[in-house]
Amino acid sequence: MRLANISNRLTLITADNEIVDVPQETRGRFSPRIQDCYDRWDELLEVAPALQGASGKPLADVALHEFGNPAPHPRQVFAIGLNYADHAAEASLAVPEDLTVFTKFVTSLAGPYGTISLPPGTVDWEVELVAVIGRGGRHIPAGRAWSHVAGVSVGQDLSERTMQAAGPAPQYSLAKSFPGFGPIGPLLVTPDEFEDPDNIELCCAINGEQVQKGSTSDMVFPVPEIIARLSRTTPLLPGDVIFTGTPPGVGVGRVPRRFLAPGDELVTYMRGVGEMRHRIQATEHQ
Ligand code: ZN
Repeated sequence: MRLANISNRLTLITADNEIVDVPQETRGRFSPRIQDCYDRWDELLEVAPALQGASGKPLADVALHEFGNPAPHPRQVFAIGLNYADHAAEASLAVPEDLTVFTKFVTSLAGPYGTISLPPGTVDWEVELVAVIGRGGRHIPAGRAWSHVAGVSVGQDLSERTMQAAGPAPQYSLAKSFPGFGPIGPLLVTPDEFEDPDNIELCCAINGEQVQKGSTSDMVFPVPEIIARLSRTTPLLPGDVIFTGTPPGVGVGRVPRRFLAPGDELVTYMRGVGEMRHRIQATEHQ
């Protein structure tokens, strides 16, 4: 199943690439707010086959600005650092023996198209698979973890490296939480739509130049292992968002180092989900 947040309404995309308004088609059984559907995920899975038979306007007719974040109001946002060995190497850091976890504060989340304002400093890109929790739980075994995932999307873990590196301990959470620094979208795709949900290609390009290309099969801790380890400590709640780490190719790891500049177009892609497009702009007040 593929879902989208179109014009702030919970929308299903059929196999024929037509869009179905879920609240309308279910006569109000589901709220238009996409975030609410994760609390009733099993119910949505039950009605999904009937919705697949409905017809609506073509997905191609939806204007880009109508697409919002498919998980815009999670109660918890987790992000995993250094989860690809070659990315840890380019950051001159050791591959961790356990998860490196931080948060992106919810006000940093954004939709898949639009502009991102640059704060002062050095702003870097990180394409990431984003997992959204459907069934919550604690002590979730890795072997069952995919059944707790509503779906995956593609996200950017934008990072202001100067703040991140200042001070005696890394300031990951704050330096990665300026407004617009956590875009997600355009679709949420259930794990069963993938031949292998642990092997999905993801890419990032700036002004048409590919800067990152990787596969989630190269994760140090694959999605099921992330869920198992996180849920040993903290309960996972329906609708929670997990940024799962970035493959190599970020700007801070380059020689010379490279960062985003006003006017850049940032394209963030994951196979099976599609691409996000953002224009980078200068902040007015600096
Ligand atoms: Zn990251």
